[in-house]
Amino acid sequence: MTTRRPPRSACLKRFWDDLRPAFSSALNRLLGASHPLAASLPTEGELQARAERYRLPGTSDAATPQEPSEEAAWLSDTLREVEVGVGSSLDVAATALNAHTCAAFLLSEDGATLSLDDCRSESDLVRRDAIPAGEGVLGAVLKQRAAIRLTGAPQGVNYYSGKAPPLRGVLALPIRETGPSARLRGVLVADRLDDMRPFSEADERLLDMIGGEILRAIESGRVLTWFRRANEEKERLYSAIEELNRTTRAADALGVALEQARAMANLDFVALTLVREQNGKRLHQVMRATQSDLENKLFADNTGLVANAIRYGTALPERDLAQMDRPIVFDEETPLKGLRALRIFPLIAGDRTLGTLVAGRQRGQRRFDRETTRALEVLALQVAQSILRADMFEQMESLATTDGLTGLVNHRTFQTRCDESLQLAQRYGKKMSLMLTDIDHFKRVNDTYGHPIGDLVLRGVARILRETARDTDIVARYGGEEFCVIMPETDAKGAKVIAERVRKEIEAATFETDQGPLKVTLSLGIATYPDSADKKQALIDLADQCLYFAKEHGRNQSVTVAQMRGEQN
Ligand code: GH3
Ligand code: MG
Ligand code: MG
Repeated sequence: MTTRRPPRSACLKRFWDDLRPAFSSALNRLLGASHPLAASLPTEGELQARAERYRLPGTSDAATPQEPSEEAAWLSDTLREVEVGVGSSLDVAATALNAHTCAAFLLSEDGATLSLDDCRSESDLVRRDAIPAGEGVLGAVLKQRAAIRLTGAPQGVNYYSGKAPPLRGVLALPIRETGPSARLRGVLVADRLDDMRPFSEADERLLDMIGGEILRAIESGRVLTWFRRANEEKERLYSAIEELNRTTRAADALGVALEQARAMANLDFVALTLVREQNGKRLHQVMRATQSDLENKLFADNTGLVANAIRYGTALPERDLAQMDRPIVFDEETPLKGLRALRIFPLIAGDRTLGTLVAGRQRGQRRFDRETTRALEVLALQVAQSILRADMFEQMESLATTDGLTGLVNHRTFQTRCDESLQLAQRYGKKMSLMLTDIDHFKRVNDTYGHPIGDLVLRGVARILRETARDTDIVARYGGEEFCVIMPETDAKGAKVIAERVRKEIEAATFETDQGPLKVTLSLGIATYPDSADKKQALIDLADQCLYFAKEHGRNQSVTVAQMRGEQN
């Protein structure tokens, strides 16, 4: 009898494999990831390779874990569970069969090669490199999908480096899943060197049972990983939805969507587009993109994937990128390079398609897996809903703050904006001016031409005021045919220049009506903080007094400013 021992080198390696992730993450924490000592331990990649050997789900298509060291430690624990399961099954088999070698080889994802997962052997020469899946006794087992028993001087023993030892018998059988698909996962092999007994049917049943145990160990790792990944994905999606629900502006919703999509699906490229109308034409605008030179770009409604995803209200492309001749995402002039996987999701809210979420990845699988696709679909729906809600919110806000006839800020909002401007002026020691205007003899316009034409004139005067004022000024409809302009950081002199410009523009303007051209004039008054007064109401009253000074002195008069009145009169 020989003593069973795994080769010392294999034992040490496995021991180090187990310890390394924890050791490495501790080093990372202590020294920082850029330290040469920490950087010399590429544990993440190794863990991934080990996980891929067992085809643990999501190892290639998963999102970037939030806490890499925590993820590595978890994966390392799971792998250890699987490896202990496989190892102890091999211990049992090697002892029970009195084998020289008992080894489990697993098939690669593409089925092209077999690689040693673990073995118990008195030899150090069991092959650790990839063995072509069609070769030798291992290949024959895969081909026949059945056990093979060899006796005498077995031929085709291809799992030793160099020449195989003078074996007396070999028993090899497939490791395969049960159930309808029953995929082959590898080959389990046992051989005898000193033991003269041929492998029996009972040995075969035992080894087959061990194969089942090995598969169960791997499956339990897969199930554990699948649950963890599914939970992580769900949590990520929930937090994305929560964050989107908190946004009240479309721009914020798009920003959140970009970041969440990237994190959720480990994307290298994300863009969010919205449908725009320009001169009656439909366009697509990139609102946010990981590639910043794309942001704000407008694209025609062409036959590209973005336009088509909106046209058909479905995620595109249906096929892999590799199968497409020259995929056009936005337009011909804007190619997206280096993407392996791409999917464009329409942003659908009710019966409207608002835009798209473009998701791309440069590495990994050519397709997004089902979970990732589903999560991005849900995110796209949620973004669409958030944009619609934000639009409605903005419309409501605008209704509440805007005057319906002229589109100017309404009286209530004028009051709050005036308070704000005054506070800013006080805090920073700046000047601020108020201009009040009133249309001369406006009653006559109404009386002569009727109220609708009066409204038309009001809209025209409002437009001229808005165009003549500066971008920083706030133009409000103060009352019936009275307007007010808040001019931050403007002294009396500056305000007078603007006011005179307004007066002259109105004087020069002709309003075309269906009852012929019509002209009006304005009377204006100005008050300046802090020169005229330092309270809002006092400033308004003083501007009003100046305005009536103009009315009393013939209307459409050179504008007077509160503190200059004395000097001027
Ligand atoms: P004055 O030069 O002294 O200002 O003479 P006026 O006729 O303009 O007198 P006042 O400013 O008191 O008249 C305001 C008129 O504006 C009264 C009202 O019929 C008219 N008005 C107020 N709001 C509206 C509106 O929304 N549409 C129309 N068409 N007229 C309005
Ligand atoms: Mg009036
Ligand atoms: Mg008037």
